[in-house]
Amino acid sequence: MIPEEFEYKRAATLDEAISLMQSSGGEGKFLAGGHSLIPLMKLRLSEPGVLIDISRIPQINGITDQNGKVQVGAATTHAEVVSSDLIRRVCPVVAECAAEIGDPQVRNRGTMGGSLAHSDPSADYPAVMVALDAEIHLKGPGGWRAVKAGDFFQGMFTVDMAEDEIIAGIQLPPAQHAAYVKLHQRASHYAIVGIAAVLEMDGRTCTSARIGITGASTHAQRLTNVEAALAGKELTQANIDAAAAIADAGLEDVNSDIHASEAYRRAMVKVFTRRAIERAASR
Ligand SMILES: Cc1cc2nc3c(=O)[nH]c(=O)nc-3n(C[C@H](O)[C@H](O)[C@H](O)COP(=O)(O)OP(=O)(O)OC[C@H]3O[C@@H](n4cnc5c(N)ncnc54)[C@H](O)[C@@H]3O)c2cc1C
Repeated sequence: MIPEEFEYKRAATLDEAISLMQSSGGEGKFLAGGHSLIPLMKLRLSEPGVLIDISRIPQINGITDQNGKVQVGAATTHAEVVSSDLIRRVCPVVAECAAEIGDPQVRNRGTMGGSLAHSDPSADYPAVMVALDAEIHLKGPGGWRAVKAGDFFQGMFTVDMAEDEIIAGIQLPPAQHAAYVKLHQRASHYAIVGIAAVLEMDGRTCTSARIGITGASTHAQRLTNVEAALAGKELTQANIDAAAAIADAGLEDVNSDIHASEAYRRAMVKVFTRRAIERAASR
């Protein structure tokens, strides 16, 4: 399919991108890797009059150390995340997740900021971001603000971001006992169910846990009942199994589609929660 006609503008700075968006009269859309936006335009589900290319803005490209945390520019591609030594050292679960996204073509074009802004219910990063308690840095005409990932994802394709705001970067805290596992759609590799587990451990005892889920319902969220079941417990197989067994209990509006029924997804939520906890605990 051929998209509606549009104007193409490339921004050199964040401020230029924001002012181009303001002058577009509500017709503008930011373009990063284009791997979600362009298909929507070809299907005519999105018909922006102006595409504002933000992919080459230096300020939002790259991965840096910021006092022990990792700052990822929003226009950083999934492939750059996979191969980052800094991410592999400080929070390897993010590289593990990025390696699971799509195929090499998708990973070479798609960006972390684009994935979070788009907030597909089956996207991988959001589960890891809520489990890590990552911070999303936004810039708009009114200036800067930071939003915790747990507050950012609000519903299907719905996030806490205004039309004229840009995700500039994502701040990732360190995490070693962490893992991301998913059951993927065979063709696209999107998550049917994806689970991220981030554990604080004292020997074999889990002092606290954060579990993020994607693919199962409208948007990424935490499995707080599983977190409560793990906190303060020795991570024996019996305790892990007991926590995973209640993983779907608090989930509402579980997706049912051509990829998996609600019943199958609920079963897989338990299986993949168990696997994520086991893998995180073993690290
Ligand atoms: C075949 C295929 C398979 C895929 N498989 C997977 C998969 O397994 N797992 C997965 O998670 N994803 C998958 N994806 C999606 C992929 O990860 C996309 O790259 C990602 O969802 C969007 O990133 P992008 O940079 O391409 O964004 P774009 O398509 O350029 O933009 C998407 C949306 O976000 C907005 N946007 C982009 N950047 C910003 C920003 N910095 N600030 C504010 N708004 C912004 C745009 O305006 C647009 O509305 C797949 C895509 C394809 C085509």
